[in-house]
Parts: sequence; C-alpha cells; structure tokens
Amino acid sequence: MSSLLITNGHIVTLDADNRFIENGSIYIDGHDIIDVGNFAPDTYSVDRTIDARGSLVMPGLINAHHHLYSTFARGFTPPGPQATTFEDNLKSLWWKLDAALDSDDVYYSALLAIMHAARAGCTTIIDHHASPSCCDGSLDEVERAFRDVGLSGCLCYEVSDRNEVGQGIEENERYIRKCRASDDGQMAASFGLHALMTLGTRTLDRCADIGNSLDAGFHVHAAEDEIDVTVTMERYGRRIMDRFLDFAIPGPKTIFVHGIHFGPRELDLLRSTDSMLVNAPESNMNNGLSVAPVLDMLKHGVTVGVGTDGMSSHVISQARAMYLHQRTYHRDPTVAFTEACEILLNNNRQICNRLFREPRGMIETGQLADIIIPDYVPFTPLNAETFYGHLLFGLSFARVRTTIARGRVIVDDGRLMHLDEDEIRARCAEQAHRIWARIH
Ligand SMILES: [Zn+2]
Repeated sequence: MSSLLITNGHIVTLDADNRFIENGSIYIDGHDIIDVGNFAPDTYSVDRTIDARGSLVMPGLINAHHHLYSTFARGFTPPGPQATTFEDNLKSLWWKLDAALDSDDVYYSALLAIMHAARAGCTTIIDHHASPSCCDGSLDEVERAFRDVGLSGCLCYEVSDRNEVGQGIEENERYIRKCRASDDGQMAASFGLHALMTLGTRTLDRCADIGNSLDAGFHVHAAEDEIDVTVTMERYGRRIMDRFLDFAIPGPKTIFVHGIHFGPRELDLLRSTDSMLVNAPESNMNNGLSVAPVLDMLKHGVTVGVGTDGMSSHVISQARAMYLHQRTYHRDPTVAFTEACEILLNNNRQICNRLFREPRGMIETGQLADIIIPDYVPFTPLNAETFYGHLLFGLSFARVRTTIARGRVIVDDGRLMHLDEDEIRARCAEQAHRIWARIH
C-alpha cells in the first residue's frame, strides 16, 4: 500500500466538530486517514503529494440507491405504444431492459456508471441489481466492475416473482455469504427485494427466513406508486408496512426506497423499527409520481437518505433536486435547504456505516480515505454557515479534479488513469447496440 499527502486544501471535514481547516493537509497511509490538520508538509515521508491549490477538499460522496444496470437505457425508446402508467413503464422498459442483459452487459453497464460516479466525486454506491437472464453470479460481475474502478459497493439482487417465482434468492444468499467470508471491506451485501407488488407470500417467507438468519438487512422499493399500495391491500388486506412487518423485513439494516405513499403511521413504524428510507427525487419526477413526504419523515425521526435510482451517477444533483422538489411541493421558500444537505452528507453516511465495516464520510483520523478535490476555489466565504450554499449552488456544477477511494487515487486531474476509458466507451457502445437489438 502507498502513502499520500494532500496539501494546501480548504478542508471540509464533516467531523463531529464540523471543522473547516484552511490551508490544511491530510496524511493517508494504506486505506486510512492517519492525520488531518495544519502540520508541516515534511512531517511525513510519502509516496506522493497532491497540491489541492486552495480548492475545497471534502469526504467522498455516497449514493444510497442506484441501479447500475440501467446504464444502457440512455436514449432508448421502448417499442410499442408509449407507457402511460408506472406499471406500464416497468413492463415496457425496465423489465425488458434487465431481461436483455447478459453477464458481459452487467459488467460493462456497472463499469461505465461507476466510472461516472468516481468522476462526480462519489466513492460508495449502494446498488440494487436485476438481470433475470443471467441472475446467478451476476453480483460477481458488478463487484468486478467496482474493483476495476476502485470504489466501494453494497450489492443485492432484486428478488421478484415477475419472471420466475423466487428468482434471485440464492444469488442474494450466495453473495451475502461471500462478503461475510471476505476479510476485505470494499464490498458489502444486503438482501434485495423488488417491491411487494411482485412478491408472493411463499417468496417473501423464504427471503425473510434467509435474510433474517444472515442479519443482512433488506433493500426494497416501497410505496413508490399507488399500485404497490392497492395491490398489497387487494391481495393481502394489509398496508405496506404491516405486510413488511408480517415478515420481519423492517430493521436497522433495512433500506426502504421511496415511501411516497407512507402516512404518519407508516413513518412511526419506520422509526420504531429503526429502518432507513431513501428518497430519489429525480426518479420520482421522471415517473410523474407524487412527492415523497421527506420533511414529515424527518419530523417522525426516520433516517432518510438520498440516491439516484438509476437516473445518473451524480449524487449532489439529487440533493439539489430534493431541495427544489420539496420547496415546490410545499410552496415554501424556507424549507428543505439544510435538510437536503444533511440528508446527503450526514444521513447517507449513517446508512453506509450500518452496512459497511469501515467508517467513512468524514475527514478524520481512522476514517476510510475516501476524499474528493473538486475544481472549486470558493470566491465567497467558506465556513460552517455557508458550506451548504457552496454545496448546492457551486459544487453541484463543479468538475471533480481528484477522487481518492480507499486511499488510492482513482480520478487524477479528471482522468481515470488506471483504465483505458476510450476502449471501455467503445466496448460499451457495442454492448448497447446488441442489447437494444434484443428488446422487442
Ligand atoms: Zn430503485
């Protein structure tokens, strides 16, 4: 392992004291941050020194819900009449796209999206994967892409009865056991479920048995559209959270995604079970859905995170979208600014720290060395009072010059030097062509 020194940075530590260190330095050895402060550059002898040139330096960002497999949907129009409902859209686009993927496609769709994430300053992604034509072993292909780029990932396979009853159960179990047996912390695993609307009782029983016996936590879409609520009520006479509780799915390691149609009782149940809820505002807007009650969720004490849900790999833009979405929804120019920033920076960190072994999300001694240096020299004061303004109005548009993940320089002056980006892009263009041709 090598050592690194970052000098001349405007360091936003996001540590417990929320320290901002002007002209600061960070010493990294191996995967970890060893020292942070205003020490002299010759204090440590290192393999490489990076001069931040007065730029802001901050912890790597975290994406709490992504679908890396969605990469090749860009520009694709499904054949047939245009989908007019949420369910139609799943059937005509997403369930055809995921079924068209072979294991090479799984690898390349993940690789390209993880490269984009690294270039956008994201160092950890919690992914939700589906590839029904090559389910077994697919999470190994996603992992291979994470390892080739160098970011950290928490993976799961979305179990659903929509193609084959219980498909994906064994893949989740296998991958969770694999991560458990590994002594390296780069990859983590949870038990993936699509949503109650595509999961029968027998499948949920099996998932609950295995997932709970492994104490893995679940990662599942919930109450994204009314159809999930109505199908669950019509088939089982249960509200969404009651149905999940019947199978002991909620808990401190479980991520529910969306929760748009959750009312006060469901929010109380999320809090009392210490479950997590991830909001994906751009995805909700794209699907023409209602607005998730993010501010109510926070008032109820729910741990709310933010993710891109396959819309992009740029997670700061999601916090910005959340802030704008909530202000529009509430027609109130005083809300959601601080909340959106805290959700991105603090809550996504809390979510990760429940799923991964290595602590991350702060620049302090003992944390994983996930650090980014955007091309961003602030031209107005930068401190604890002003930082969120810089985040949503400046950093959301800034190019990231350097991304360090697990102590390794992944993005160096905007380039992923350890990968042949041109060749990967050319290969992805070939893969996309073949995938599109398979969809009818
Ligand atoms: Zn999703």
